Amino acid sequence: MRKNLVLLSIILLICGVWAQNSSHPMAVHFPPAAIAAFQKIDAERIRAHVRFLSHDLLEGRGTGQRGGDIAAEYIATQFALDGLKPAGDNGTYMQKVPMVGITSAPESTFALVPSKGSARELKPLSEYVAYDETQQTDSTVNAEIVYVGYGVEAPEYHWDDYKGVDVKGKVLLMLVNEPTSEDPKFFKGKALTYYGRWVYKYEQAARKGAVGAILIHQTEMASYPWEVVRNSNSGEKSYLKLDGSPKLKVAAWIHLDAARELASMSGLDIGKLMADARSKDFRPVPLPVKLQAHMVNKVRPFESNNVIAMLPGSDAKLKSEAVMYSAHYDHLGMRPDMPGDNIYNGADDNATGCGILMEVAHAYADAAQKPRRSILFASVTAEEQGLLGSEYLGKHPPVPAGKITLDLNYDDVPPLGSPEEVEVSGSERTTFYPTVQALAEEFRLAIRPDSRPEAGHYYRSDHFSLARVGIPAFSINAGVKYKGHDAAWGMQQANEFTEKHYHQPSDEYHPESDFTGDAVMARFGFALGWEAASTPKLIGWQKGDEFEPARIKSGAK
Ligand SMILES: [Zn+2]
Repeated sequence: MRKNLVLLSIILLICGVWAQNSSHPMAVHFPPAAIAAFQKIDAERIRAHVRFLSHDLLEGRGTGQRGGDIAAEYIATQFALDGLKPAGDNGTYMQKVPMVGITSAPESTFALVPSKGSARELKPLSEYVAYDETQQTDSTVNAEIVYVGYGVEAPEYHWDDYKGVDVKGKVLLMLVNEPTSEDPKFFKGKALTYYGRWVYKYEQAARKGAVGAILIHQTEMASYPWEVVRNSNSGEKSYLKLDGSPKLKVAAWIHLDAARELASMSGLDIGKLMADARSKDFRPVPLPVKLQAHMVNKVRPFESNNVIAMLPGSDAKLKSEAVMYSAHYDHLGMRPDMPGDNIYNGADDNATGCGILMEVAHAYADAAQKPRRSILFASVTAEEQGLLGSEYLGKHPPVPAGKITLDLNYDDVPPLGSPEEVEVSGSERTTFYPTVQALAEEFRLAIRPDSRPEAGHYYRSDHFSLARVGIPAFSINAGVKYKGHDAAWGMQQANEFTEKHYHQPSDEYHPESDFTGDAVMARFGFALGWEAASTPKLIGWQKGDEFEPARIKSGAK
């Protein structure tokens, strides 16, 4: 009963604004059929999807594993029940993503060998994690280690850690993150840019001809603890099938303690090395230590699927364009060798986002009237493996990227009750932002600025893969202020989740969780998407934005 009242008041709120001001720029696009569809979005249906997808029987929805495939089939089945059109390969809901699973075998070795003194073999998982990106069964590295600071080459910020030094055939030791600054014009100030991400660092090292790269883990700099690195880099790891770009034989992380040891082996101090990297004048430092690594790999080519459905638009012309919704369904699978609970259920991450995606799809499918542009629903695979499913989707979209006006992504929307804030970081960089602001106001949701821009969340979820090909894209999530609690409570919940449950087997479904907020985020996203499907012009990135060149290249008008 109470729930219905809340729903009704939201609907009345929208209708009210509509009635008061018929020339309201956004309300004109909400016909009664959309309101009625919207009204049906139900927290308990989202709960049911989350409960199923995070069940132990789905074995943690590992990419290319049985549980992941069952999740994909479940989502495709929901799309079919909704009568949505398949938008995958050959008239199916499935878009095949060719991948290769790499498992580092126990006989792999990773040793630091100083020019004088004895070698030090590092212990897997507790001291280092490493993968061979070349997709070979066997790789050997015996190469000098060169410390390259942040490993960043960013001409627009006049920053170059390489200084033209030839690092071909070397192993590069580097810091995560990027030079810190308060100046918004310098690496966007406190905010993390793509240069600070490990993905960039490996890519750049490979482009420079290095054979390996070792990232030094430090909790504050990475913004997540070593356990996250370890859990995301053990067991099988997936890659998109080789496409000709250069790859590393050793792509590694080492624990800060091991890095400290490596520095002292070289007669250097880790603190000083880290401090030196902050200077523009930093130059690469060759260390008198070699990495001797033997990578023995199990290589398993396989396919996993993105699940894609479409609701054709109602406007004869605009239906060739689309709004996209996305949410990854994969998680970390299971670790049969681990004692105790070894299923990474991924309830919050990201059964919640999938539940929302399916409920939004259901609402659109049920609507008596359809939006003008088409709507795409994409549940992608291999996010936890480095945004691979969405990367493939961005490179092979069912509708050309230049005709996709917006991607709205959901990733890990915690079931914590009724939110009074929404996070839509990245939306402020698009021409859609005034609409986002207006709708947030109607939903009585305060827009919460990225609470930790230094964590670079924008580059860590699937919307980024779509932004890279030019599509205006961002994720929708609740902030930290919930009804009946102060912001400190919400912050504490978030911190506790990051420390204790994020990427751990304990990210599980709890019957007592309150999915009200997930439904609010679904309704808010529905409203944003409906609006984006109705505007006369396609949405773009603001002038000078890092993704604007890609948008222009995509041919979007
Ligand atoms: Zn996620």
